[in-house]
Amino acid sequence: MIEEAAKLIAHSHFLIAFTGAGISAESGIPTFRDKGGLWEKYKVEEVATPEAFRSNPRLVWEFYKMRMKIMKEAKPNRAHLALAELERMGLLKAVITQNIDNLHREAGNKNLIELHGNIYRVKCINCDYSEDLLESGRLEEFLEEDLPKCPKCDSLLRPDVVWFGEPLPQDALQKAFKLAERADVCLVIGTSGRVFPAAYIPYIVRDNGGYVIEINPKESGITPIADIFLKGRAGDVMEHLLAKVKRCLKDKGC
Ligand code: NAD
Ligand code: ZN
Repeated sequence: MIEEAAKLIAHSHFLIAFTGAGISAESGIPTFRDKGGLWEKYKVEEVATPEAFRSNPRLVWEFYKMRMKIMKEAKPNRAHLALAELERMGLLKAVITQNIDNLHREAGNKNLIELHGNIYRVKCINCDYSEDLLESGRLEEFLEEDLPKCPKCDSLLRPDVVWFGEPLPQDALQKAFKLAERADVCLVIGTSGRVFPAAYIPYIVRDNGGYVIEINPKESGITPIADIFLKGRAGDVMEHLLAKVKRCLKDKGC
């Protein structure tokens, strides 16, 4: 199975990756739905919806500051690093992620589409103010603030992430769909495949004649349409897969 996947990747013309919370699990960032996941401690409707922010912004900020702290400590794992290497090798054309943790960028991937925003970006609920806390160097200071306010209009700042019930950034989604139409191989890593419209991506690849290779320790919503299912943790499987792709390219005969 893994040989077959390596061969598809080594011979691909337009490889893309579609990732979810599972790719960052080995970096110590909890997923949403697995055991020990974030939803066991917080109710989604109390922390990740526009209604929640309107009724209790303090609780929502508590949740997001906690996640900022966890993500700030996290380092890209072997799966993120393997994707960055595949991009440097010229094989991987883009990563489309549902994650907000910034780890693909930290690993070195340049062509990255973040469908659900980024944990380090904040924006005003009233005016057009937005800030990248990594770029402004204000993350530490920000984590100490009680309720963050807009420096321009004094309204509340909110995380620049997509909450349940909110539309995805349309430009990012359209770009992602276009990439999926072009892809001849798509690596789907660590996603439940149950959050739409993001989860359409592997379907678009398949409907346009591309191959879908999935990596997940458990079957997901994508598994029924996957051409190859590599059961296992993202870091382990990606490390093996990358080694086999390199061998395949070296041998030329694979
Ligand atoms: P999910 O939590 O619904 O599902 C996680 C998936 O990862 C499951 O299918 C699980 O079997 C798999 N998984 C668990 N451990 C794994 C491992 N070691 N290797 C590979 N796969 C593993 O996640 P989702 O489908 O991505 O849900 C989407 C929503 O969750 C998105 O909106 C995303 O923003 C959000 N989310 C993001 C982060 C993050 O940025 N790191 C963390 C939690 C949730
Ligand atoms: Zn403002």
